[in-house]
Amino acid sequence: MTFDELNLAPAILKAVREHGYEIPTPIQAQAIPAVLEGHDLLAGAQTGTGKTAAFTLPMLDKLSKGQVRTNKFGKDGVAALVLTPTRELAAQVEESIRTYGKYLPLTSTVIFGGVGMSPQIDRIRKGVDILVATPGRLLDLQQQGHLDLSTVEILVLDEADRMLDMGFLPDVKKILALVPKDKQSLLFSATFSDEIRDLAHTLLKNPQSIQVTPRNTTVQRITQVVHPVGRGRKKELLAHVIQEHNWSQVLVFTRTKFGANSVA
Ligand code: AMP
Repeated sequence: MTFDELNLAPAILKAVREHGYEIPTPIQAQAIPAVLEGHDLLAGAQTGTGKTAAFTLPMLDKLSKGQVRTNKFGKDGVAALVLTPTRELAAQVEESIRTYGKYLPLTSTVIFGGVGMSPQIDRIRKGVDILVATPGRLLDLQQQGHLDLSTVEILVLDEADRMLDMGFLPDVKKILALVPKDKQSLLFSATFSDEIRDLAHTLLKNPQSIQVTPRNTTVQRITQVVHPVGRGRKKELLAHVIQEHNWSQVLVFTRTKFGANSVA
């Protein structure tokens, strides 16, 4: 498959080509048509799979064909909101949006904590189409009355598992209450805990599921061997295996601290 077959706007294809991409990655080939068709998405993908372009490209396409939204301040309303766990990822995603959207008349900005609020407030006041943000700072700005999220049409949760690991679930829930119910939602996560599934269940309507990270795979360069042995002879076996191979560097995991002491 080529990018040309994905029905993206010529202005986006031009930027993608200039960026040196020729063939969509598997997550892109699956996610782009689904998002363009308007589906919600539950995507299992790690960093490095091309997941950023998988949601950015169809998002830009849809927004470029949509109507201008006016927020309660009379400015361009936020049409797409991307939430990320870290400021680094937020900056990276916004950079991608700028790269792929360079021939489109859409505006974007990024907001995250740990830096001054004033420049972010000034930027938001002018109106922006695409907002990339970490949850904490987004809520701070909202609570201070600087943000109107009622015009959001597309919501992306990027690296949702990390977001929950970092304790952002309460913030994410507050943000979900601020955006319209009627929107397209895309959830990207490398892993799927019960918490993520609950979140997906609350957020996504009839989602298409895409999984590009094979489940429970092991690293191919590592040989795995199981030795069935009774509890009483485990240490003896371990010592035997180590001696037999003459191993000098061995990492042993035990279930308890007591066990670790005893094995050592
Ligand atoms: P991501 O998983 O979004 O962090 O992307 C991983 C890396 O793959 C980034 O450096 C992208 O620039 C690159 N990339 C994304 N899509 C493509 C593509 N279709 N062809 C070549 N490289 C890509």
